[in-house]
Amino acid sequence: MSGESRLLIGGKLTDAASGRTFDNINPATEEILGSTADADLVDLDAAIASARVAFDTTTWSTDRALRKRCLLQLQEALEREREEIRAELVAEVGCPVATTYMAQLELPLEDALLWPARAIDEFPWERELSTGNQFGMRSWRKAVKEPVGVVGAITPWNYPLEITLGKLGQILATGNTLVLKPAPDTPWTTTRIGRLVAEHTDIPPGVVNVVASADHALGEALVDDPRVDLISFTGSTATGRRIMERGSAGLKRLFLELGGKSADIVLDDADLPAKLAFASFVCMHAGQGCAMTTRLLVPRSRYDEAVELVAASFANVPYGDPTDPANIQGPQISARQRDRVLGYVEAGLREGARLVTGGGRPSHLPKGFYVEPTLFADVDNTMTIAREEIFGPVLVMIPFEDDDDAVRIANDSPYGLSGAVTSGSAERALAVAGRLKAGTVSVNGGIYYGADVPFGGRKASGIGRQNGVEGFEQYLETKSIAGLAAS
Ligand code: NAD
Repeated sequence: MSGESRLLIGGKLTDAASGRTFDNINPATEEILGSTADADLVDLDAAIASARVAFDTTTWSTDRALRKRCLLQLQEALEREREEIRAELVAEVGCPVATTYMAQLELPLEDALLWPARAIDEFPWERELSTGNQFGMRSWRKAVKEPVGVVGAITPWNYPLEITLGKLGQILATGNTLVLKPAPDTPWTTTRIGRLVAEHTDIPPGVVNVVASADHALGEALVDDPRVDLISFTGSTATGRRIMERGSAGLKRLFLELGGKSADIVLDDADLPAKLAFASFVCMHAGQGCAMTTRLLVPRSRYDEAVELVAASFANVPYGDPTDPANIQGPQISARQRDRVLGYVEAGLREGARLVTGGGRPSHLPKGFYVEPTLFADVDNTMTIAREEIFGPVLVMIPFEDDDDAVRIANDSPYGLSGAVTSGSAERALAVAGRLKAGTVSVNGGIYYGADVPFGGRKASGIGRQNGVEGFEQYLETKSIAGLAAS
């Protein structure tokens, strides 16, 4: 396999100015897949300058028909390379191929670009306001929506294509230009998008720029640059905090999608066997999903029964080689992430949680950054493994007394990304869902995923919303205009 190694700057596919490259590692085999141009400040400067010129001097920001045509061209180009992208995702992300039929690939291909492309026609770009009558003068007034300008988009490695398309679709549909910076672990899906933009669309040079780098500092330089109007970031809460700190100097507009530690509440009237048979779903993609419900809250009155059912579910997690379509769990992205997850297992044991299953490196998988599907019971919500995002195949089970207690525990978290409620009564489940401080909630198995559905977090899970009208508006400024009305 060989991926696109070149950056995209000012409409040209190019090596880094320094000529340097960095390795792309397959996390399932630990082998080097190939290399990618390693951008530094020289390349970043050129990319930001190109995005600035494209925004300030071309018709991109005002020509909605062009933007729609270009998004549809990019969609077509992606669809043509669908199978190559699938193989590339499995190789560089280590995600099970099964996940590419879900959020890694097929779901975003359905609507991440097409929804914003449609929204271009449907969005109310102007809104008439009431006629003013001050100081004896009558004025007509209106509010007009305009693109923000140059967006710096910084993405993580866990769902690189999905997150990149989610940003790209909305940023381009609203008329902005951008500099995309992928995570160093997974550059190829993004550099491929750069190539498709350059070779298969009429997107004017400079509107989309791609700078990959082994060095996280490039992301920071993007945040610091005064020519960048908005940072659209998805990644860890620690990096989000840092971006907010750095962005404050220029009062940079920020959209931050960060980590989570979401609660899955199973009320005492729920069908436990039916619900908990799927408890090991948190091991999907090795638990590397921000909205995973990694705290399982079950009634104390049915706790032992619940632990038994979840343990049975964990005994049968198909995991290992991500190219095997039967597997739902592959490796962690890197040795560092694997060791971080194992560190949390140690913290859980130290603080008195009961390890029901897993907790180590699987002996039958000597190569690759694997962690066993891991279940902790008797977890107290104050323990480290209940408070911090582990980003691994680890589920913690916490008992609660009644509905109020379940809501209290769910909300007693630094995070507020997602949640789930299961009950025999839809009404009761909805009532509990309404009390959760989270950006998305699934009730009795409902799926909130989709380009039209706002997604994002509260508290340490972030600021702003990806997707939907709320996501679209995030990349727009509002200008109010008034003129004297004919008397
Ligand atoms: P990360 O924060 O380490 O890195 C994310 C991106 O930020 C990378 O491109 C990285 O190079 C860049 N970066 C690192 N330091 C930077 C800095 N100081 N300034 C600017 N950019 C910087 O996160 P990660 O480990 O790649 O991804 C995992 C995290 O992402 C998890 O915490 C997960 O919950 C979160 N995540 C959140 C969502 C969401 O929608 N809320 C989605 C996916 C992942």
